[in-house]
Amino acid sequence: MDDWQLGLKARPVDPVALAAAFDLDPVETKEVTTAYPALLTPYLHRLLQTASEALRRQFLPDPLELCPDSLPVDPLDEQRLAPVPAVVHRYPNRALLLATNSCAAYCRFCTRKRRVGRRENRLTFGEILDGIAYIAATPQINEVVISGGDPLTLSDSLLGEILQRLQKIEHVTLLRISTRTPAVLPERITPSLAALLGRFHPLYLTTHFNHPEELTLEAREACRLLADSGVVLANQTVLLKGVNDDAATLATLFTKLLHCRIRPYYLHQMDPVHGTGHFRVPVETGLQLMAELRQTISGLAMPHYVIDTPGGLGKVALLHDSILSLGPVVRLQTASGQVVDYPNAQ
Ligand SMILES: *Cc1c(COP(=O)(O)O)cnc(C)c1O
Ligand code: SF4
Repeated sequence: MDDWQLGLKARPVDPVALAAAFDLDPVETKEVTTAYPALLTPYLHRLLQTASEALRRQFLPDPLELCPDSLPVDPLDEQRLAPVPAVVHRYPNRALLLATNSCAAYCRFCTRKRRVGRRENRLTFGEILDGIAYIAATPQINEVVISGGDPLTLSDSLLGEILQRLQKIEHVTLLRISTRTPAVLPERITPSLAALLGRFHPLYLTTHFNHPEELTLEAREACRLLADSGVVLANQTVLLKGVNDDAATLATLFTKLLHCRIRPYYLHQMDPVHGTGHFRVPVETGLQLMAELRQTISGLAMPHYVIDTPGGLGKVALLHDSILSLGPVVRLQTASGQVVDYPNAQ
């Protein structure tokens, strides 16, 4: 067994031990984790011991998750857009292949809070094969985003098998992997994994870093291995209250990512998902932050600021001209001219 697999096996889950290790209230922690399980890697466990609140907030259970809110459990309507259980097909030419529902660690703000880590939602190999068969039978799909959960929690052999089957489909010309492992389980990026991924060019990989403190020596080394193998790296950041909702933090993060050969790709306005209200930042603040960053950092370091529209109508870039009105409800115009309402943070 590789070190990274041992790391997955050794993950602490017991709420009482978690509360003791991080000085949390054991009763509250137990309540929160009954609704939404907590999971850390040994790497994160070490990192969080000395980390700032910005990091702890992302991974440690918080009683605020249980505050009543009117936010939906599946804001993106992914269930409706799933032609088979392992595929989300929203745009004609690109589809998500959900290769697993497991993650190395659970982020408290996760959009897929409803399904990540739940045993009953585990995907079988047969369902992945059905997903690949759907993609093979749908010639408009030329790009596949391998997502999850976190696909890099799969073994090299299973991942290689999936990549190979996708690469054999003639109309699929671009592969992308979406993963949080460089930030939460950097030892997963072994030289053999990097070599495996290097065989599937052009392969894009999107990382998920939200705060400059996540770019540790280990995380930077993981990204170096990937970049050296020729994988093209881009990053998605979620805009989170109390984590990265200030211009200085974002400027440092995006600039450091460039230094790691990772292009900041998306800054996501958080999906309005049940149990995550305490992380929400108003759209006005996000626009203001983007305007400040434009003045201070390289254009190469500027991501697109996007909302994934409620109801599964796709991503909308937040520019002044895509916003028809602001207020308690933000009225947006999608690329195809549809008008959609987004419930704003107050
Ligand atoms: C974000 C997303 C994609 C990829 O979109 P890009 O804008 O090309 O990064 C594809 N399918 C779904 C369902 C998505 O949410
Ligand atoms: S790694 Fe991604 S899918 Fe997994 S819990 Fe974090 S945000 Fe959710």
